[in-house]
Amino acid sequence: MKYGILSTLAVCVVAISASASPAPARDSKSLYELWGKVKGPLSLSGKADPIGTYAAGCLSGAEALPLDGAGYSVMHPSRLRYFGHPNLVGFIRDLGARLKGEGLPLLLVGDMGRPRGGPMISGHNSHQIGLDVDLWFRLSRKRPSSRDRESWVSPSYVGKKGELTRSWGQQQRELIATAAAAPEVERVFVNASIKRDMCTKYADAPWLYKVRAWWGHGDHLHVRLQCPAGSQTCQHQEPLDPKKTQCGEELAWWFTTEAAEEGAKKQVAERPFPELPAACEQMVQELEVKRL
Ligand SMILES: [Zn+2]
Repeated sequence: MKYGILSTLAVCVVAISASASPAPARDSKSLYELWGKVKGPLSLSGKADPIGTYAAGCLSGAEALPLDGAGYSVMHPSRLRYFGHPNLVGFIRDLGARLKGEGLPLLLVGDMGRPRGGPMISGHNSHQIGLDVDLWFRLSRKRPSSRDRESWVSPSYVGKKGELTRSWGQQQRELIATAAAAPEVERVFVNASIKRDMCTKYADAPWLYKVRAWWGHGDHLHVRLQCPAGSQTCQHQEPLDPKKTQCGEELAWWFTTEAAEEGAKKQVAERPFPELPAACEQMVQELEVKRL
C-alpha cells in the first residue's frame, strides 16, 4: 500500500545498537536511513523467515526475483525493492507464466521488499517481511529496456470522480482474478472503484472476499501472501471471512465523504519508524557498527 512521504519531524521510537551501554536516542529519519543502507540479503538462521508483521518487521534469507522471467519484468530495479520470501518469488514467477499462458501482455512488477525487508523511507507502510508485492495494472507488449524500467510509470485507471478510465478492461480484471485465486494469497488491495467493478463481474467467485478496497491503488494491485506454513516468527493477520465479500454496505462506505476524508488524512500523516522485533536489530547490526 502506498502512503504519503515521511515527514522530517523526528520522533524517537526505537534504538538499534549492538553495544551493552545505553543506546543513543535515534530519530525516525536516521533509522529509516540506516535500513536504507542495506544492499544485500542476510540470513540469521540459514533459512528464509519473515520476522514480525507486514508493517513492522524484516526478512531473514530474502531471495531476489530475477529481473526478467516468463511473462513478467521487474520495474525500477535501482530501488532494490525486488527481494522477497521464496514463496513470494515463486508466486510472481508462477503468475507471470500463467498470465502468459492466458495470452496476456507482460506483467510489470513494482515494489516487493528490500534485501532484508524492513521499513522503507518512502512509499509503503507494509512490504516489510517479504510477502507483499505491487503489480502494475499497466501491461506491456514489449520487454522494457533498462532505461524503460526506470522511466515508465503506471497510469491510474480511476478518474477523479471514481469512474474507471477507458484503458480499464478485461486484461486488468484477469490479472486480479488470477492473483486472488492463488491459494497462498491472503489479501489483494485495489481501489474501491475497481473492487466495485470486480463485485459486478465476478459476483460468485470464491476468491472475491480476498480482494479488498483500499485508498489509492488505481494504478496497481497489492498482493499479500499468508505467513509461510510453520513459521514461528511471522505474525499472522486476522483471517478474512470468505462469506464477507465486501460487496455490499461495506463497499458503499468507501464512496462516502468520511472515507475520502480519512484517505486525505493518511496522505499527510507522519510515519514514525515502527517498533521492530528484537531479531530485526541483528539484521542491520554490521551497518550500525560501520556507522559508529
Ligand atoms: Zn503495496
